[in-house]
Amino acid sequence: MRRSALDRARQSDGRVDLKCLDRPGIAAFMADLGKAEHRALQVYKWAWQRDTTDFATIDTIPRSVRATLGERAVLSSLEPDGRLDSADGTRKYLWRLPDGHRIESVLIPDDTVPGRPRLTLCVSTQVGCAMKCSFCLTGDMGLKRHLSPAEIANQPLQVQQDLGPEHRITNLVMMGMGEPLHNYDNLLVALDILLDTYGQNFSHRRITVSTVGLVDALERFAQASPVNLAISLNATTEASRTQVMPITRRHSLAALMEACRRLPLPSGKRITFEYVMMEGFNTSDEDLVRLRQLMADVPAKVNLIPYNENPHRDIRRPSDDRVEAWQQALVTAGIHCSVRTTRGRDISAACGQLGDASPV
Ligand code: SAH
Repeated sequence: MRRSALDRARQSDGRVDLKCLDRPGIAAFMADLGKAEHRALQVYKWAWQRDTTDFATIDTIPRSVRATLGERAVLSSLEPDGRLDSADGTRKYLWRLPDGHRIESVLIPDDTVPGRPRLTLCVSTQVGCAMKCSFCLTGDMGLKRHLSPAEIANQPLQVQQDLGPEHRITNLVMMGMGEPLHNYDNLLVALDILLDTYGQNFSHRRITVSTVGLVDALERFAQASPVNLAISLNATTEASRTQVMPITRRHSLAALMEACRRLPLPSGKRITFEYVMMEGFNTSDEDLVRLRQLMADVPAKVNLIPYNENPHRDIRRPSDDRVEAWQQALVTAGIHCSVRTTRGRDISAACGQLGDASPV
């Protein structure tokens, strides 16, 4: 039987982490305590907009209610475990979880488009990852556990706190450690908090969830959430994708593309297909032709990601010329295409490097 949201929000000491609950969840909790439901919105706003972790400070609710809350509930926060700054402006935040696990969030400033400075936070959704994509170092850890809704939504909250009011995070990408759709229920609660006007108040246009393509979860998710979707494609045939992304055995490339064609996307929205370019593996002329064919009839954008080389894999990125030629060819074929520049490599913050235990 699926455990209720309230059970999942309960800590080992029996107290409930209210930051693991959406607004109706907190209202139900207050009702259970026999407290007025309108207190729920006050607690929620103090937690997510005033960053409080101590009920005693919530001076808009009576002292007796605060005391009861302190006995029965907590407002959790992540314990900072260091911060690393890259020469290119990228910054990695490390967090230590109560059970000793460590996770990471990566902040990526982008001033390349004049008049539109972006500050993107790459958020983790699991400790480790179960997907075992052969080229990705996070997969080497295996899955340790899912992150709770609070552990997901606290990452943007606490990074923003660290930045102060003069720098605002503009975009969130669920592209850190983990497979977001494998942690479906917790992800949905976290997104609810991130999107809520009384929560973190992000626009759905500025949040992207990236997935290896868990087809059934993807279909449910597209119905349930308005945020942007990105799919890690990374290969153009069943055989080659299976070779690097074992999930293809369970959800074939054909089934994934068929699902993408049917997804209920609002008009004007496109699915982003991420394609990690690995020299000698998926960068041939035939791959380019097949990629174009795969994108036919799908409202798609392609994001080419030259592989981040690292000491743990004998995988090379193609030449810049090759990457540019691919981008040109896709654009000429009428397919939106961007190239992801490598950021934060010197602090092991680049794509596929999170969770790497090697010293930086
Ligand atoms: N599990 C989700 C979320 C993680 S996103 C997903 O796979 O989409 C991390 C992205 O980095 C994925 O697109 C993955 O294919 C890519 N990646 C992993 N290792 C990489 C590397 N060494 N260089 C470049 N991209 C990499």
